[in-house]
Amino acid sequence: MEQKYCQSCGMPLSEELYGTELSKGKNHEYCIYCYEKGEFKQPDITMEKMIKACVPFMVEKGMAENEAISLMENVLPNLKRWKKD
Ligand SMILES: [Zn+2]
Repeated sequence: MEQKYCQSCGMPLSEELYGTELSKGKNHEYCIYCYEKGEFKQPDITMEKMIKACVPFMVEKGMAENEAISLMENVLPNLKRWKKD
């Protein structure tokens, strides 16, 4: 199966990381950290704040901070939540 990524924060999704809907279903576009019980956990967060929130986790996994920031800056604008069309 094709690897899916959270359309809000860009993390790779797996069965246990899918967001949840109010009706017990799973949301296959967003992760549990971004989307729970049918709504975004931080509905007012901006893309810039999302990048700042995610970078420390990526650094923890061994990525250089500037590398993590530039990766996020490339990936996030293409995700469904942030895409402007
Ligand atoms: Zn997410």
